[in-house]
Amino acid sequence: MFRGVRVRLTLWYTGVLATVLLVFSIGVYSALGTSMRQRLDDNLRSATQVTSLALNHETEEHGGREAGEANVRLVLNTMHQTSFPRPAIAVWDGSRLVAEKPGTAGLPGATLAHKTDIRASTSFSTLRNSAGSYRIATASVWVPSISAHYQVIANESAEPIEAGLASMREILMIFVPLCLLLAAAGGYFLARKSLKPVLLMTQTAEQISSHNLEQRLSTGTSRDELGLLAETFNRLFARLQEAFRQQRQFMADASHELRTPLSVALTATQVNLQVRNQNARELYEALEVVQSQLFRLRRVVEDMFMLVRTDNGMRDLTVTSFYLGEVILDSVRAAKVLGDVRNVRVTSSIMREACFIGDEGLLRQLFLILLDNAVKYTPHGGNVDLALRAAGDEYEIQVSDTGCGIAAPDQPFIFDRFFRADKSRSRRDPGAGSGAGLGLAIAKSIVELHKGELKLEHSGPSGSMFSVRLPCPAIEAETPSVSSPASGVMQH
Ligand code: ADP
Repeated sequence: MFRGVRVRLTLWYTGVLATVLLVFSIGVYSALGTSMRQRLDDNLRSATQVTSLALNHETEEHGGREAGEANVRLVLNTMHQTSFPRPAIAVWDGSRLVAEKPGTAGLPGATLAHKTDIRASTSFSTLRNSAGSYRIATASVWVPSISAHYQVIANESAEPIEAGLASMREILMIFVPLCLLLAAAGGYFLARKSLKPVLLMTQTAEQISSHNLEQRLSTGTSRDELGLLAETFNRLFARLQEAFRQQRQFMADASHELRTPLSVALTATQVNLQVRNQNARELYEALEVVQSQLFRLRRVVEDMFMLVRTDNGMRDLTVTSFYLGEVILDSVRAAKVLGDVRNVRVTSSIMREACFIGDEGLLRQLFLILLDNAVKYTPHGGNVDLALRAAGDEYEIQVSDTGCGIAAPDQPFIFDRFFRADKSRSRRDPGAGSGAGLGLAIAKSIVELHKGELKLEHSGPSGSMFSVRLPCPAIEAETPSVSSPASGVMQH
């Protein structure tokens, strides 16, 4: 799988190195060539300059053209022995060869074409023939003491330079590909070594399925990028594992909740079907049992459906603007009916002018769940109170009771699905809620859909208090279309 990446990395690495080596080689090669040619030209220029000086000096010193030229021949001979043995030098006077020296690395001066035009500076040219290539320096000399023009031509073979550059080319031709080959092999090895942890991670990740989500990737010892990647994946696996655990738990709890009423209804039906000529009264009672279990089933299924739709983001809010106090008051009235049955006093203090934008139906369900729980878990003669007030840019609703409270170890789990602190009592006495442990989970999801927060403020033997915080609507124009009630706090 990673072969492509390894090859691509190696190619990139080798490509970059090839470019660097090529630029470097061309630079070194041309710098070396230029410097060698420059040195040859300097040598030739010096030779022509010394010869020109000799021409001037000797003709002046010996007071005549012939004597001077004879001495120049001697000087050239000395130059051949000492300072400039390599270049061949020839001195021309028009078409007459005045003096020459052979040189160890030049063509005989007499064989070279000469010019008679006067030029101040030395000019250079290259001659190539079967013997090789030669560099030629030509200088025109004006000798004022005898009013004569001379031309000095110095030449030297450029073959040593060409040979040096040729061997340099050969070295580079071997060195550059060899370097590239070694670099490519090294690059491939390094790419392979650095991608190995990724390969291991892939292999482990491929083995992880819903059955072994507890398995984790090795993060290695160093906290480098790959270690961080492995840690990130491990956190993802941990979240997946938790999600799977919750889903399995939900399925197990849901099956359990559905199985119980189904078994009761089935048993009631079977028992009555077995008795021939069962009397009408017993049949009626059996039907009542079946009906109550079916109601319970319907309630559990509806609650589960509501939670699943909220989880999947399929729950659309029917958003309207309304007075929160009105909605709460309706729920309080319903709770009062339940309270009357259980001899529990339900009171409220509500800020009635609280405008709100949200799903009225869902909020009604939320307050009913909280009030129903409060009444349900409060013993005879107890009190339940609901307070609505504004707190900054939020509305705070507190539902408190003087009930049995929730044991401290159970408190962290009360918002979990299907959680019941006192299972036997909940099932025995389902009241208005499902009694399946879904009420607070639904309440929490309703509050979260409205970007609010639901908390258990405190709970103990003297009672519990739940608080709901809902953000106030931001737009002032969104006032409810219902007629405005009198402002202030209403006590019920
Ligand atoms: P249920 O349908 O069983 O009431 P909930 O999700 O509404 O399920 O509540 C979960 C559990 O939290 C309940 O079983 C109960 O033990 C506990 N509980 C909730 N509200 C109260 C309360 N006001 N007082 C005491 N216990 C409560």
